[in-house]
Amino acid sequence: MTFRIIFIVLDGLGDRPCKELYGETPLEAASTPFMDYLAREGICGFHVPIDPGIVVESGPAHFELFGYHPFREFYPGRGVLEALGIGAKLEKGDIALRVNFATIKDGKIMDRRAGRIEDVSVFEKDLTMEIDGVQFILKAGVEHRAALIIRGSGLSSEIEGNDPHKTGRKPLKIKPKTRNPDAVKTAKLLQKYIDKAAGILSTHDVNREREKKGLPPANYLLVRGAGEYRSAESFRERYDLKACCIAGAGLYKGVARYFGMDVLNVRGASGTKNTDVDAKILAAKNALKNYDFIFLHVKATDLFGHDGDAIGKKEFIERFDKALSKIYGVDGVIVVTGDHSTPCSLMDHSGDDVPLLIHGEGVRADNCFRFGERDCHCGLLSRIHAKDVIHEVLNLIGEERIVE
Ligand code: ZN
Ligand code: ZN
Repeated sequence: MTFRIIFIVLDGLGDRPCKELYGETPLEAASTPFMDYLAREGICGFHVPIDPGIVVESGPAHFELFGYHPFREFYPGRGVLEALGIGAKLEKGDIALRVNFATIKDGKIMDRRAGRIEDVSVFEKDLTMEIDGVQFILKAGVEHRAALIIRGSGLSSEIEGNDPHKTGRKPLKIKPKTRNPDAVKTAKLLQKYIDKAAGILSTHDVNREREKKGLPPANYLLVRGAGEYRSAESFRERYDLKACCIAGAGLYKGVARYFGMDVLNVRGASGTKNTDVDAKILAAKNALKNYDFIFLHVKATDLFGHDGDAIGKKEFIERFDKALSKIYGVDGVIVVTGDHSTPCSLMDHSGDDVPLLIHGEGVRADNCFRFGERDCHCGLLSRIHAKDVIHEVLNLIGEERIVE
């Protein structure tokens, strides 16, 4: 068999009953004729990210879905995944952090995003330097976002960030999380770098121009999510699948790159609520010619969940279903699921099970006729661990390893 796999992750898909939807979840309330067709002909159920009831962030949740175990195997941390997502080239032992360009005045943070400055690549060169034999490399991302890579010997990712996550506060001092001498050294050096960077930014031409125009200057670096880079067994090595990724948001591109997937550039795939889902589905359809495994990520469902916008989430799911219907008739296995639940009532992630649907030739159809939390309970897959989803799919296409 030479089936292809389209593996769709609607971030934060799972939800709880919503008052605005008369007690239904956004997925239940949404009119989704195409996903209901997939459910009718396929198998449904739930997956449990990590363990029952455990709340998980998107990074580790995706590791699990791809059959990697973030708590038993090495997990590189958010900073590394975000850095890879914006295209940074990392070396073994590099420490990477997420960076926000922020605005500071009289020692206090006025804006954590420096007025969502459009482009911080103008600062890259000036903020790349060497301190005490250790290299600090700044790589610009989208808007106010960037990644900081620390390269040298005797470094550790066991350090706290400096972002208090609130305006009107002073930035925190970088502290080591442990007494490990490498962590102490890294924290000290990073603080030195941040102070130096603040000095450079305070007199930078770009910021002077911004101030003249009445815009908040990008004059401070808020860093968080330190992680250490080590290479992982690639998707191809582990499953013998040639894989690609279609995503808008940096973290997911980073996860894909970490596992050696090709990241396809799709115009309009923004990782926001306005993402061009039609363009993404079309790109997935085209990618079937060259790839065995297509990871298609959609962030909007999670964003609506965080905003507590049940109606928005429902309407987005409807828009997605319409776009997805364009893959009707493709020769391959289609998986639709989420990485975790983001209930609108919580405006945050929860430890609830996540709806799961697998459609493709050879699937033993079950009695689940609609794709929704309530309906998935009668699905044949019942409740499996997220790490087993990939094995269910590999079994279907006849690629699963044989236990002898
Ligand atoms: Zn997520
Ligand atoms: Zn989220």
